[in-house]
Amino acid sequence: MNRNQVKTILGAAAAIDPTIPAPDAGVLDMWAAMLDDVPAEAGQAAVRAYYRSDAYAEHHRTITPGDIFAHWKRTELDNRKRESLAEITAARAAIEAAPRELPSIHALFARFRAERTGDDPDIAEAEADAGRMVRTVPCPHCKAAAGAPCTTPTGRELRREPAHPKRFEALHAKS
Ligand SMILES: [Zn+2]
Repeated sequence: MNRNQVKTILGAAAAIDPTIPAPDAGVLDMWAAMLDDVPAEAGQAAVRAYYRSDAYAEHHRTITPGDIFAHWKRTELDNRKRESLAEITAARAAIEAAPRELPSIHALFARFRAERTGDDPDIAEAEADAGRMVRTVPCPHCKAAAGAPCTTPTGRELRREPAHPKRFEALHAKS
């Protein structure tokens, strides 16, 4: 919020709370400096929530920049939690909508391991299926033969991803 936006919300709050500080230059500078990363709408929502809260009805304490900042942080966190929940739900829905074939032994094993480690078994199974699919073509990058896993330059099996990106490209080029 900038000084003008702070002035607006202080004016609105003053209508409810006569003890609110007069918006002189010093007060505006201080509030604007403390709330410079809080969006104006979030500031208005925080003032509204504050003066409607049970806590205010009890103590009648004048709102401070700290109250506004705390309210904004709380709603930010709630929004982020809601977003990641929506992403997980969408990922699960996409997996469930995909055509199912008989689960491979890799997929069953990935599912079993995910259930033990607390990961999402549906996502783990889909990743294992992707790994099995991509291994049907040889890898142009590390020269792994069809059916064999990709390896690092030191000859170890690739663990961080199912296969090299070039192998996925090769699979797509084939299908
Ligand atoms: Zn490879």
